[in-house]
Amino acid sequence: MADYDYDLFTIGAGSGGVRASRVSAAHGAKVAIAEEHRVGGTCVIRGCVPKKMLVYGAHFAEDLEDCQKFGWDIGEATFDWIKLRDNVLADVDRLEGAYTETLESHDVKVFKERAVITGDHEITLESGKKITAKHILIATGAQPRLPDCEGVEHGITSNEAFHLDELPKKVIIAGGGYIANEFAGIFNEFGSQVKIVNRGDQLLRGYDEALRDRLLQISIMKGIDFQFNSVFEYIKECPDGGYFVKLSDCEEEHVDLVMFAIGRTPNTGGLGLDTVGVELGDNGEIKVDEFSKTSVDHIYAVGDVTDRVQLTPIAIREGQAFADSVFGDVEPYGVDHSCIPSAVFSHPPIASVGMTEGEAKSALGSVKVFQSDFRPMKNVLAGRNERSLFKMVCDAADDRIVGIHMIAPEAPEMMQAAAIAVKAGLTKADFDATAAIHPTMAEELVLMR
Ligand code: NDP
Repeated sequence: MADYDYDLFTIGAGSGGVRASRVSAAHGAKVAIAEEHRVGGTCVIRGCVPKKMLVYGAHFAEDLEDCQKFGWDIGEATFDWIKLRDNVLADVDRLEGAYTETLESHDVKVFKERAVITGDHEITLESGKKITAKHILIATGAQPRLPDCEGVEHGITSNEAFHLDELPKKVIIAGGGYIANEFAGIFNEFGSQVKIVNRGDQLLRGYDEALRDRLLQISIMKGIDFQFNSVFEYIKECPDGGYFVKLSDCEEEHVDLVMFAIGRTPNTGGLGLDTVGVELGDNGEIKVDEFSKTSVDHIYAVGDVTDRVQLTPIAIREGQAFADSVFGDVEPYGVDHSCIPSAVFSHPPIASVGMTEGEAKSALGSVKVFQSDFRPMKNVLAGRNERSLFKMVCDAADDRIVGIHMIAPEAPEMMQAAAIAVKAGLTKADFDATAAIHPTMAEELVLMR
């Protein structure tokens, strides 16, 4: 049998790669991992984690306004972006340290440099060092997609949004998905004038229509501007600062910042995948089977680079399943990609699991829909005219819940528990049989009519 330097070499130390490497090492494999940027990957370094901290920071704007109706007089509140930015970045540093520590304490060798596949079982590091491995795992994630327009280099992506030296007075965000809506909410709460520009006429495609409409309505009420069916013609630097932006069917306008959030493309370029025959899909994603195995027997891929479901918890599950299946003492198993709960951390947030009403009608024919459209108690006292919406979609044939959708403060926190019920195949009657916890927003889950 051939002798390799490592049993497993992982390229990319993000959520999927770190989990896979740590667990493989715990199963007894000799493991190394390479990371060209920072240990932790998109989620920890420039995604979910710092984004959520900014969402918290931004939401204080509303809390500080609302608290007056609850009797608080706090004088004039001021906001210091640099302070929040630096505190968030310091926490990211802490987390990077914790992830590195996890790897090292499991005896995973960490190479902080780029790695490229140069032979069937060979990896070459940027420093020139060649390493051999019995198995190779590609967990290189994805990167922001950029549009094809003049002056695209003047725009930023979510990667840079965490490092801004000042907040823009006026920002245009391209895209109508997760990142566009989350950052529109963040900038808007911090006082920036925000415009979302989307190529189509739908925000958050894939989410239930009623919730998307509600978010649009609330976002407009909060002052966010929307332009649909529009693309960028050019972005030009303004000599006095900022940029001139020309959108299709619009006059040129001046903004301080342009941010692109139009999806993410798998990081497969320049990895040497063609030299060993790893097959790619139409979007440059690595094609894998249910066990995350690529077209090459000993090369696997997990996470965003496979473009199955671009969510951290799924990358982690795929990494775990890979490690258990290849190095553990279990029958190989794959990850169930059905019924995955998700959330958009907009203001207010959206959370969802299972089929939308439209999807359920197409898939099942006959469905029952239950709804609760209410103004949360806190908003009532605060005088905030912002209504929440819960929706439950059931299969009319057997009452089984096939989808739950919510837009409400803390919707993602409520959804995690509700998603267990949907995944477990519970019925509307099971929810009805559960007593409400009063007074909460979550009680609407068992009171829907
Ligand atoms: P999304 O896929 O959510 O949305 C992309 C948006 O950009 C859509 O509105 C899409 O329009 C539009 N678009 C796509 N291609 C182009 C193009 N060439 N020109 C103009 N517009 C275009 O992408 P994001 O960048 O917001 O986020 C990337 C992924 O990261 C998400 O899919 C999600 O998986 C993950 N993520 C998850 C978060 C969470 O869980 N809370 C938070 C942030 C990101 P159309 O609808 O017409 O295709």
